[in-house]
Amino acid sequence: MKKYGLIGRKLGHSLSQELFEAQGFKDASYGLYEMESLDGLRQWVEQEHINGFNVTIPYKQKILPLLDAVDDTAAEIGAVNCVSVEGGRLVGHNTDAPAFQQTLEEWLLVSELPHTALILGTGGAARAVAYALKQLGVKYRYVSRYPELHKDAVSYDGLPLDELIINATPIGMYPDIDSTPLPLSAPCSPRPSLMVYDLIYNPSQTLLMRDAAACGAKVKNGLDMLRKQAEMSWDIWGL
Ligand code: NAP
Repeated sequence: MKKYGLIGRKLGHSLSQELFEAQGFKDASYGLYEMESLDGLRQWVEQEHINGFNVTIPYKQKILPLLDAVDDTAAEIGAVNCVSVEGGRLVGHNTDAPAFQQTLEEWLLVSELPHTALILGTGGAARAVAYALKQLGVKYRYVSRYPELHKDAVSYDGLPLDELIINATPIGMYPDIDSTPLPLSAPCSPRPSLMVYDLIYNPSQTLLMRDAAACGAKVKNGLDMLRKQAEMSWDIWGL
């Protein structure tokens, strides 16, 4: 039996195990492993005989120094969401970036791809989104609570709300479903050129998405991206 799983601090929101089990892979299981820290990561891999695992909040960047190798995309992004265990070596990959890119291209017509975008957050997912936008030739800025700490970042004050906005923060995610990273004042002015891609998939309609849709914006949640990054992880693991 091959063993796979997801590591993160809190995993109550995750659908990764359900997605994996729905595939009916033979002789392969997938577990959710909540970890308070990454101390003991390697012992966990060895003792549990783990063959590969996904990584989520807040470890996508913190895991890098603990790996034996990272592929070129993950190294450039500086974040890893998929690890393969190859002869005891931990090898990091990033499937968030290509999964975001593909789902964005499926969602928007080429003519709808904006010239500029705002990425809310500066964590692992935000960096993967930035990498994908760069591949597509879309200029981006990060939006951060601490813009002074990050290159290419602005604060949440006075943002233009007429372009593509990607929520790469956990704000609005289960169980924090009444929060939004970007209060859109009600009643809002019509914003037909606003597009909101929320990477959150639980709940399927975040408060940010509901507010934006009420202003006439085009909105999308993170479920397609979750599926795509999972499929890409399964390929890496040879399933
Ligand atoms: P992360 O590394 O912890 O980063 C989250 C970022 O959000 C932080 O860098 C921070 O940026 C900002 N942030 C965190 N708490 C905040 C708060 N209370 N208020 C305002 N900003 C806050 O997390 P991540 O791994 O990048 O994941 C981010 C989100 O994307 C999660 O909801 C995750 O589930 C989702 N995601 C979905 C998919 C998918 O396949 N659909 C894939 C990856 C991630 P600043 O400190 O600069 O403000």
